[in-house]
This record gives sequence, C-alpha cells and structure tokens, in this order.
Amino acid sequence: MKTEFERFDMKKPPVRTKWYLRPLTYLLSAPDTIAHRTVIKKTGTEGLKPPYLLLCNHNAFMDFKVATKAIYPHRANYVVAIDGFIGREQLLRDVGCICKRKFTNDLTLIRQLRQVVQNGDVAVIYPEARYSLCGTTAPLPSSLGRLCRMLDVPVVTLICHGHHINSPFWNLHDRGVKPTEAEMKVLFTQETLKETTVDEINSALVKEFQYDEYTWQKERNIKVTYDKRAEGLHSVLYQCPDCGTEFRMKSKGTKLICEACGKTWEYTELGELKADDGDTRFSHIPDWYEWQRENVRKEVLAGTYSSGELPVKVDTLPNAKKFIYLGEGTMVHDMNGFTVRGTDVDGEPFEMIKPVSSLYSCHIEYNYLGKHGDCVDLNTLDDTWYIYPHNCDFSVTKMAIATEELYYEHRRAIGRPCPPGLA
Ligand SMILES: [Zn+2]
Repeated sequence: MKTEFERFDMKKPPVRTKWYLRPLTYLLSAPDTIAHRTVIKKTGTEGLKPPYLLLCNHNAFMDFKVATKAIYPHRANYVVAIDGFIGREQLLRDVGCICKRKFTNDLTLIRQLRQVVQNGDVAVIYPEARYSLCGTTAPLPSSLGRLCRMLDVPVVTLICHGHHINSPFWNLHDRGVKPTEAEMKVLFTQETLKETTVDEINSALVKEFQYDEYTWQKERNIKVTYDKRAEGLHSVLYQCPDCGTEFRMKSKGTKLICEACGKTWEYTELGELKADDGDTRFSHIPDWYEWQRENVRKEVLAGTYSSGELPVKVDTLPNAKKFIYLGEGTMVHDMNGFTVRGTDVDGEPFEMIKPVSSLYSCHIEYNYLGKHGDCVDLNTLDDTWYIYPHNCDFSVTKMAIATEELYYEHRRAIGRPCPPGLA
C-alpha cells in the first residue's frame, strides 16, 4: 500500500469523564431507560463504591445506557470497539470510552484498565466482545479471571434482559419492549476475590452470564406486535432444518421462508416459530441455532469445513474517521482459519491471515448500517478490515460459528480443551 493512513492512537490514556458531562451521560441514557421502563435489581451493592470492575452482557446499544444508569453518579470508562468510534472519537473519549480492536490480545488495554482503577473509577467491560446473535451467551475469554485478580477490585456483573428482544442484532428496529430488566450483582468483593482461584472466578462468571432472551420473553409473556418482526431472522437461521439446504433462507413480514423447499414458519408475537404446514422442529430460535452449530462441528471434526473461495470487497478502518475502500480480493475460511488476499487501489497486494489458534470468535455484521451487506470483521492490533463477500453463497453466521468450533477443536487437539463457556 503506497498510501499511509493516520492510525488511531490506541495508547492514549483513558479520560476521566469531565464533571459536567456526567449528568449529561445520565440524561442521554434516560429517555430509553424511561421508555422501556427499565427495572434494575441490585444484589449486594450496599456500600459498593468505585473502583470496581463491571462486567456486562452485550445485546444492543442500550446496554451502555442501562450501565450508565446503574452506576450513576460514579464515573466509568467503557471498553468499546473501534467501529463504535467512527466520526465521534472526541465525544467517546470525553465520556470515558477506551478503544479496542475486537478479538486482539492487547496489552495496552490492560495498562489502561489499571489506570481506570487507580483513578478510582468503574471499569466497564463487555467480555462477550460482540453482540449476541440470538439472545444467548457468547463464550467468555478465559483471560477474564486473571484480569479480575490483577485489577484487585470488586467484580460486579450487570446482566440486561430484553434488549435483544427489543432490538435484535439481526434487525435493530426498536420494538418498544417493556419493562426491560437488569440484574446488578456483586460477585466478588475485594476480600472474597483474594480467596478465589482464577478457575473459580471464571466458572462463577460463566454461571452468572447464562441467559436466554427468548425464554425470558416467553416467561414474561412479552408480545412483539411489530409486523416486520421476522425480517432479518434468516441471517441467523441460515440452514433449513427440513431439507438441510444452507444459505437459501429468507424472511418477510412475520415469516421465515426456505426458498429451497418452500417451507415457511410464522414468527409469533411471543418469539416462537411455528411451521405453517407440518413439523415445526425448532420452535425456540436458540435451539435451531445450536443445531446449525452441531452441523458445523461435524464438518470441522471431519476436516472438511470450507467456505470455498469467496469474492470480497474489503474496507479498512485505520483510524476512527471513516472506512476507506481497500480493494477487491478473495476470502477463504477453512480448516486453516481466514485467508484474505487482494489488490488495493494502488495496484499493491494486500493480505490478512488469521490462523485458527489466533481467533476464538469473530465479529460479523448483518447488512452493515442498513446498506453495505453482510461482512466479517477481522483485526490486527492497528487495523480493522470489514470484508464483504458478494455474488456467492455464504453465511457470515456460519463463519462465526465455525471460528468458534475450529478454535475449540484446536484446543482439544493440543491437549488444552476450553472449559464450558470459556475460550
Ligand atoms: Zn428447506
């Protein structure tokens, strides 16, 4: 690449929220938490004062707003992925956001979190590191327990419910779900943390992070009457359980449709699927998703998993100003991981290789910003690529699942299997 881009300064120390911005962050959060009548239940938080570590689940942008309300009036620094910074870097830095590139091992981040704790503030982390695709828990990094021990401050969890049902990752339209709920809980005090091993901390976190938003919806009898509520669901449920065909699922209105065999499902107001004709097989969306995972796992175990060579367009995000078109190329996701190659606008070759061992999960987008199509987001420490396959059969959901299953299998093969819920 002849053109050199200005790089985002990942090393800037975290900014303590300016005093006059603190009520503002609260006020900016208020309309949503009022509209959704958010109920925050607190356990063991009597006398809780910063510094502490707040670990939150990640379903929608509203997670940040509920976190701001839960910790008010204390100030916090939030770890946010770089794409969240686009075009508003100064504002996000001023309200205390720390930038990270997803799924990279970043020692700078550890130093920044230490600084937050030394400042006497709340360090807010979304350890799933990506939005949940179908309202269930994503794997937590096994480095989390060590991080808790190292920061040596109380560990508090904030698990929000209803955000995925209100605004699922596969179709962000606000469905007006209320009330939404959040559970804020002191999992370890500074004292109990000292008596707990890293493995025990990790197990406790995995247990606390178990959630299933579709079950939550049913149990509370929350009805979503939005007449396009199924639109986008085919992005997550990419394989037909009736005929087994992949990448031919579609959705319209309240229907999920397989274009290969013609089977259709109604997506009910209570978030369940019902076949219009014959066997429903999976009424619960996470069950369908896990069935797809089983199928991917079989391909991984047989050593046959491959996306094939996909034509792709690549955008790069060297800084937080805007995406820059890098060029056209190809991407293969197979038993070796991701291989992306192409030629940039200056005619120079570009390449990014992400071996299986380097990536336990990956971030994907469905029709990014409502117009750019589905993409896979791959990162180095100083670059972020949004990679858009086009004119071919593919599913970024399948690639995300395969990334996880390839990693688990790699860990088993080297005799260091991942404990349940951890990566
Ligand atoms: Zn079918």
